[in-house]
Amino acid sequence: MPDHLDPDELAALALGPADPGVPGPSPGDHLRTCARCRTELGHLREVVRTARGITVDDLLVEAPASLWESVAARLAEADAPAPAGAPAEVRRPLVGLAPARTAGGTVHTRDGPAGGRQVVLATTGLPATGGYYAVWLMDRAHRERVALGALRPDGTAALAAPAGVDLAAHPLVDVSEQDHDGDPAHSGRSVLRGDLGH
Ligand SMILES: [Zn+2]
Repeated sequence: MPDHLDPDELAALALGPADPGVPGPSPGDHLRTCARCRTELGHLREVVRTARGITVDDLLVEAPASLWESVAARLAEADAPAPAGAPAEVRRPLVGLAPARTAGGTVHTRDGPAGGRQVVLATTGLPATGGYYAVWLMDRAHRERVALGALRPDGTAALAAPAGVDLAAHPLVDVSEQDHDGDPAHSGRSVLRGDLGH
């Protein structure tokens, strides 16, 4: 049995189209032979489908768990009125990665109050932490991470994208659990992953 798919690969498969143009060995080869990874991917796809259902009322047909009612409530709190004439922003799902796989939420961008763009998150189900949760933008190659800031204790955030950072080149959203150790680098412990779809 080859190595199991890692959380990054599973999240990308769940968030992306059925046949993403991922370079390298096809994850499908492993999925065909590994029930464990198929089960995990099925769980993530269910989460994504449910999360997307929140943003499209007429697609919300499956029984909403209390988790997603909570997400919707937080969305209402986190969502400031859009400027007149601005198009509604599409909220994208955030998928919980093991061991935070019961966590979830949504992410979208909007114009910031002082110009530039804001990245707006509403999460729920993250485990209690002695540290904090940090939000990052990443390129699709996972080579470059841009730190945006920290989630509020209630699991929401509205963070300004740094000037000069091309959101289209950094379409992945990552939430990591960080320690209060003074080290601003990514801890390597990603708990949520999303895709702005730019
Ligand atoms: Zn596997």
